[in-house]
This record gives sequence, C-alpha cells and structure tokens, in this order.
Amino acid sequence: MYDCIIIGTGAAGVSAALTLKALKVNFLLLGDKKLSRKIRSAEKIKNYPGLIGVSGEEMSKVFLTQLADAEIEITQGKANGVYPMGDSFSVMCGQVTYEGRTIILATGVETIKPVKGETEFLGRGVSYCAVCDGFLYKDKTIAVYCEGEEEIKEVLLLSQYASKVYLFCPEKVKVDAPNVERVGAVIKQIKGDMRTRAVVGVQGEWAVDGVFMLKQSFGADTLVYGLKTEDGAIVTDKNQGTNLAGVFAAGDCTGRPFQYAKAVGEGNVCAYSVNAYLKSGKGV
Ligand SMILES: Cc1cc2nc3c(=O)[nH]c(=O)nc-3n(C[C@H](O)[C@H](O)[C@H](O)COP(=O)(O)OP(=O)(O)OC[C@H]3O[C@@H](n4cnc5c(N)ncnc54)[C@H](O)[C@@H]3O)c2cc1C
Repeated sequence: MYDCIIIGTGAAGVSAALTLKALKVNFLLLGDKKLSRKIRSAEKIKNYPGLIGVSGEEMSKVFLTQLADAEIEITQGKANGVYPMGDSFSVMCGQVTYEGRTIILATGVETIKPVKGETEFLGRGVSYCAVCDGFLYKDKTIAVYCEGEEEIKEVLLLSQYASKVYLFCPEKVKVDAPNVERVGAVIKQIKGDMRTRAVVGVQGEWAVDGVFMLKQSFGADTLVYGLKTEDGAIVTDKNQGTNLAGVFAAGDCTGRPFQYAKAVGEGNVCAYSVNAYLKSGKGV
C-alpha cells in the first residue's frame, strides 16, 4: 500500500513527485517513463522561470535528470480505473492493481474529444485498455484508434487476439502485423444497438465487434467515478482537493491556463495537501 499514487508524468506529476519525495511520503509515480508527449512538444518555452528559451525536449531531459537525482522511479503504465475502497483507493492498470491511501490526478487535458457514440458504447464494445480487454476479442474484428508510435505495442498486442484490426491513426505508423490495416486518421462515429457494431471514418464505414480508443489522456471523470468536473476540467479547491476525500488534482486536468508553470505549482500544492491529509490521520 502506497501513501499516494500519482497518475501522470507530465509537469504536474513530476513536480508532485519531487515534493512528495522531499516530504518523505511513500508514493508511486505511474505513467510514461519518457514523460508526457506534451512536455516534449513545445518548440521554444519562453514563459517558464529559470529555463531560458529551452525546447520541450530539453525541459523533459532536465525533468528526467531531476527524477533520477532524487531516486524517483516511474512505473510504466496507464491507469484505466480508480476505485474507492473505504479509506484507500485501487488503481487498475491493465492486469495490475495498485493500492494507495491518496491519489494525485496529473493526467493532463484530453486532447481528443470523445467521438460520437464513444461514451454511449463504453463497456459495450468500446475500451481504453488493450491489456485489460484485448482477450475479449479473440478471432473478432476490431477498430483501434491510436495517437502515434507510443501505442504501437498495444496495437500489436490486440493484433494477436483479433482476426482483423482496422487502424485509425493521424501518423503514418508502421505496424508489423499482417492483419492490421490502416484505414484512416480519425474515427468519426461509433455505431451499434445493444453493442458496438461499426465505426465510421472519413473514407467509409467498417463493421466491427469492438473499438479500442488508445488515447494518451481520457476524461478524468471516466477514470474516477463520481469525480466532479466542469467543462471537462476537474473542480478543485485552493489545496487542489477534489470533491472526493483523498483525491487531489494538478495541472492541465484542472483547467486553463494550460501552462507548465501552473502545472508545476499545482503539483507542488498537491504534495503538501496529501502530506497534511495523511498526517491528519485520514486515509490511514
Ligand atoms: C505544442 C505545445 C507547446 C506548448 N508550449 C508551452 C509553452 O511555451 N509554455 C507553457 O507554459 N506551456 C506550453 N504548453 C503547455 C504545456 O505542455 C502543458 O501545460 C503541460 O505539459 C501540462 O502538464 P500536465 O502535467 O498537467 O499534463 P501533461 O504534460 O499533458 O501530462 C499528463 C500525462 O499524464 C498521462 N496520463 C493521462 N492519463 C493517464 C492515465 N490514465 N494513466 C497514466 N498516465 C496518464 C498522459 O499520457 C501524460 O503523459 C505547450 C503545449 C503544447 C502541446
């Protein structure tokens, strides 16, 4: 059991981790070992104090060095559900479950809005997790949406279960599997009746048994049942607490402005709030 589980390795998650480490809180940092794609994508950052005109790539390297210096390890994985268990939380991550007394959500903002039918058919043919649900589609036809190279491993895993995979990806990725066919960049709609039956893309419609939306970030309220959001942003108080006791949030996922400085500041506040929460005897 960890005292805290940080979900997301962007600027907010890294900041929360560095401060939790300094506060000697026992925590797990869950996310991408290469950090967030968004940290890396800025061409030149001019508004972040202390680093003059660096690129996102350079900033990412500094963050990784700081984590290594502080002996903080990233546990590679994508959480697909956070479940309250009385005074603690279970974080499902593929087939692995982690237990934490508190949670810091640092999951960034959902860049790809849900497509028509995605929320309606979630759990009825629509999934966000190849590792958790891939086996359900043995010898079936599926569609997979992925954002780029990072998700190709998951696409390959799905290709081992499904007989046919229609791939939608904005990038021209190479997938070494004969049953994977890239048919477009985006899914426009997911259709069905009681279950998912088809996907609609720009070039046409494909009959499928299931759809995997392998997005970097999905809505925080999809991840944590009962979490209060407004216009897609997690509602927090000045201590970065959410409407759920023991759940804190930082960074782009709490709303605008979408900036490194805000993410880092909120991550830092989250760490202090988690520490105070634990010290007050809650979540123990
Ligand atoms: C092209 C570009 C240029 C930019 N330039 C600037 C700039 O010059 N100045 C500035 O201040 N800001 C800039 N930004 C914004 C800045 O990148 C963001 O504000 C910042 O990265 C937010 O940090 P974050 O930690 O909140 O979210 P993110 O950096 O988005 O990190 C969130 C991480 O959480 C991960 N995640 C999501 N869900 C899960 C899950 N279920 N399980 C595990 N991990 C999960 C995501 O994959 C991601 O790695 C720019 C953004 C872009 C795209």
